[in-house]
Amino acid sequence: MLDCDLHCHSNISDGMLPPAELVARAAGRGVKIMALTDHDDVRGLAEAASVAATHGIDFINGVEISVTWNKHNVHIVGLNIDPENAELVSGLKVLRAGRAVRAKLMAESLAQAGIAGALEGAYKYAANPEIIGRTHFARFLVDGGHAKDVHSVFKHFLIKGKPGYVSHQWADLKDAVHWITTSGGIAVIAHPGRYLSGRKPMGRPTLKNLIVEFVEHGGRGIEVVTGSHTPEQYAEFARYATEFGLLSSCGSDFHAPGESFRDLGRLPDLPLECKPVWQAWGRASLNS
Ligand code: AMP
Ligand code: MN
Ligand code: MN
Ligand code: MN
Repeated sequence: MLDCDLHCHSNISDGMLPPAELVARAAGRGVKIMALTDHDDVRGLAEAASVAATHGIDFINGVEISVTWNKHNVHIVGLNIDPENAELVSGLKVLRAGRAVRAKLMAESLAQAGIAGALEGAYKYAANPEIIGRTHFARFLVDGGHAKDVHSVFKHFLIKGKPGYVSHQWADLKDAVHWITTSGGIAVIAHPGRYLSGRKPMGRPTLKNLIVEFVEHGGRGIEVVTGSHTPEQYAEFARYATEFGLLSSCGSDFHAPGESFRDLGRLPDLPLECKPVWQAWGRASLNS
């Protein structure tokens, strides 16, 4: 079991716990190396880092950037970034601005399907209104009895062809990787097993094209172990890491107690052939 969790969310994005509580929960579950990777926002990092220090956790500044690549919605995690880097900060700010517009359109689409009050309903769950997103709408829909839990919301709503779905233009892949690398970080393809083409899983040739372009732009890592991957997918993406010379990352993608695929930490080990991403940081405590 790994005591390293390099992907999770606080209520600065669509997690439910404030950064301090998230870090305390991670500490309680034995996490020793942790990155907070909120969607499109770095404003939880200072609080998380200071609480992590009190627990003796080696804390890594992170972010998860929303990207549109060839009409596909993909997520790029940045690890060991500088949250004060001007290009990163201004890029994320522009990216966040699109969310309010999308949220209005999502609520209109749900209203057409007979579900009223979704905009106000979703914002009630968004501690940071700038990151209003599908998870907040999903919690509103569960609360209103439209689905039994957040996972089933994403079968009947908020996805292509279903009520509440709105197509959206996120950051360019090239820009996202650039913001991360220019701030000193390592760009990592998040949960490669989760991507879709329309409503079907992304085909492997398409995924390989994504990886090739990502590497051309300076991307260096891929998540092999993540909350939503099966053991077969750990093996599959370990092979991709080797094939493309990528560092391997691991993280729970935890959002909220009882809601996510996995809780914080206690992740299965990376397959033996993987080069862990933390080796790149050269910090003694991470390489022991
Ligand atoms: P957004 O950035 O607003 O498009 O929202 C994306 C978020 O929705 C992801 O980060 C997940 O937290 C959540 N999400 C997407 N698909 C699912 C799913 N199948 N089950 C649970 N949560 C999901
Ligand atoms: Mn999320
Ligand atoms: Mn993601
Ligand atoms: Mn995530």
